[in-house]
Amino acid sequence: MNHSGTLYVVATPIGNLQDISLRALDTLKSVDMVAAEDTRHTAHLLSHFGIKAKLVALHEHNERRAGEKILETLQSGLSVALVSDAGTPGISDPGAILVGMAREAGLNVVPLPGACAAVTALSAAGFDQPHFLFYGFLPASGAQRRRMLEGLREQQAVLVFYEAPHRVVESVQDMADTFGGERQILIARELTKTFETFHRCPLGEAVGWLQADPNQQRGEFVLLVEGAVAPPQNEVDEDAQRVLKLLLDELPLKQAVKLATDITGAKKNALYELALELKSES
Ligand code: SAM
Repeated sequence: MNHSGTLYVVATPIGNLQDISLRALDTLKSVDMVAAEDTRHTAHLLSHFGIKAKLVALHEHNERRAGEKILETLQSGLSVALVSDAGTPGISDPGAILVGMAREAGLNVVPLPGACAAVTALSAAGFDQPHFLFYGFLPASGAQRRRMLEGLREQQAVLVFYEAPHRVVESVQDMADTFGGERQILIARELTKTFETFHRCPLGEAVGWLQADPNQQRGEFVLLVEGAVAPPQNEVDEDAQRVLKLLLDELPLKQAVKLATDITGAKKNALYELALELKSES
């Protein structure tokens, strides 16, 4: 593998070490340096796979400073693998600043896909909605959190949150208060680990479920909330309905629909369907 001057962005497991990819192992073995969020944590991972590597620390408190040094290493023609403690670097984890610096310097950036808690939870959620919005961690302060949630209330995409165990109950309560108790939530806990748990229920029942068993408040969480329901596409507003009804009393259906479309600007198909309904009722 020729990787001079390349920055590899390497996903690592989120619990089950067998989820590391063969390509990740090859890369971690052969790069000149591994930049890790927590070098001790990554040293354990590497020793589990019998890999010896030169480790340097790159975390949220030193990313720019450490990034400059790593950039020099890359520019000298050496290769570096970037890893975080778990999952995909840059996803609610350090990495984006270093990757941005490498791109700006015109260096080669190669991602190695692998575990990500958000995508893992989504794959097992069964929400039949085509889009998702990855939010990550909500603010720790209650007032700010509720404001953020309020801004997401009308989102029609599945909402994906990361949450710490000591805040999971209050966050889920805020979600129920903001989105209403009817929407479904999937609580995904300890993914890929021994106590992996999924619980899907209406938001209104979720806090009760968490509180009924303190074990369900332990570990790592992804919270998925069903998106808002889209308003019916064929809705005809009240004015257009009134015009259509008046015209239907005087004219054949097709003509009434055409005129009502011209007058109100409402969608012709929607008016046509409504006209059929009105005719069948009368
Ligand atoms: N970069 C990681 C990724 O790709 O998913 C996320 C890192 S973020 C600092 C850590 C958060 O991710 C945890 O607080 C939790 O919300 C979520 N998470 C990570 N591993 C998890 C797991 N095994 N089960 C459930 N959630 C997990």
